[in-house]
Amino acid sequence: MSTSPRNGLELRRLNRNRIFRAVYESGRVSQQELAARLGLSLPTVAQNLRVLCAEGLLQEDGSFASTGGRPARGVSCIHDARLAAGLDVTRGHVSCVLVDLAGGVVRGVRRRLPFSDTEEYYRALGDLAREVIGDTPPGRLLGAGVSFPGILAAEGGIRSSHVLGLGPCGGEGFTRYLPCRGLLCNDASAAGKAELWGREELSSAVYLSLSNSVGGAILLGGSLCQGENLRAAEFGHMTLVPGGKRCYCGKDGCLDAYCAASVLSGPYGGELGAFFSALDRGEERARSLWDEYLPRLACAVNSLHMAFDCTVILGGYVGAFLTPYMGALRALAASLDTFGGDGSYLAPCRCRGEASAVGAALLFIEPFMESI
Ligand SMILES: [Zn+2]
Repeated sequence: MSTSPRNGLELRRLNRNRIFRAVYESGRVSQQELAARLGLSLPTVAQNLRVLCAEGLLQEDGSFASTGGRPARGVSCIHDARLAAGLDVTRGHVSCVLVDLAGGVVRGVRRRLPFSDTEEYYRALGDLAREVIGDTPPGRLLGAGVSFPGILAAEGGIRSSHVLGLGPCGGEGFTRYLPCRGLLCNDASAAGKAELWGREELSSAVYLSLSNSVGGAILLGGSLCQGENLRAAEFGHMTLVPGGKRCYCGKDGCLDAYCAASVLSGPYGGELGAFFSALDRGEERARSLWDEYLPRLACAVNSLHMAFDCTVILGGYVGAFLTPYMGALRALAASLDTFGGDGSYLAPCRCRGEASAVGAALLFIEPFMESI
C-alpha cells in the first residue's frame, strides 16, 4: 500500500469524517465507544475529537458512568454549527427555511408571493431569505438553495417551467438578491432528497410528489437518477389515460391532470385541508372526488413499482394527508400487482410541510458534511 503524503492526508481526512459522522449519528457517545466502533486507536480518536471541537463542530457533553477507573467523557455534535437556507418557489407562494446539519428546521416562513419574472419579485425573494437567515453569522451560513417547479438545463440555468411560465433562461434572478451563495434545483427532486435524508436503510426508493404539480425523484443504489436531460422522474407527465383530461403541459391524459393536489383542493378554494376535512365528514362531493382520485393514484404507483421494484414514497401536499388512507390505497395497488404483492412497498412521506425547501437547503448541507 502506498504511504505517500497525499494518501496519508486523505486517510486522516477520512478518519475525521468517519468520527464526525459516528458522533452525528449517535447523538452522544464516548471516546472509548467511538474507538471500538470504528476500529481506531484511542489517541487517533482523541486527536480528531480535539480538532473537531476546536472547529466548533463537536462539543464535550458530560460523562458516562464507568465500570471502573475514570468516567468516560461524552461528546456530541453541534447541529447548528453550520446552517443553510432553502426556498421553495411556487406559483403563488414562497416558503423559506433555515436548516441545521441534522436537516432540522431552525426557522421557517411561508408567505403569499405570486410569481412574476420581475426584479421586484426577485428582490422580495431576497428579502424573505434575509428575514429567515436573521443574524446567522456569515461564517456559519453555507448558502441558500432555491427549488422551483421546472426543469434545469444541463448547461446551467433553466430549461423551462410550465407552472411559472418560463422558457429557457439563466434563472439568475432567483439567486441575485440572496445574502449568500445560491443554487437552483427542481422542487420534486429537492423534496425527494429531504425525504431520503438520513434514511440509509433505503438505498433505492422512488419518491412521488403529489403537490399542485406532480413530480418525483428516483434514488437507485444510493444516488439520484437525473436522466440525460435532467428530466428523470417527471412522473406527472406519464400518460395515465390516453386522450384523457388536458394537462397544463398541453398534452392529454397525463398523471398530473388526475393526481395533482389541486384536483382535490380546487373545489375547496385551494385548501387541501378543507378537502380532507370534508372527506372525513363523509361529504358527498369529497367522497366522489376521492373515489376517482385513489384508483388513478393506485395505477400510477403500481406502474412505478413495476418499473423500479423498490419502496414508493408518497409525498407532496397530498402525501402529508395520506396516512389514514394507506390501507385503501395499498388494497387498490395490490389488486393491480402482477406478482401478487400486498402494496406494502408504499409508504407515506415522513417530511411534512416544507420538504422542497428543506431539500433545497440540503444542497449545501450534504457537501459540507462530506467535506469535514
Ligand atoms: Zn402533462
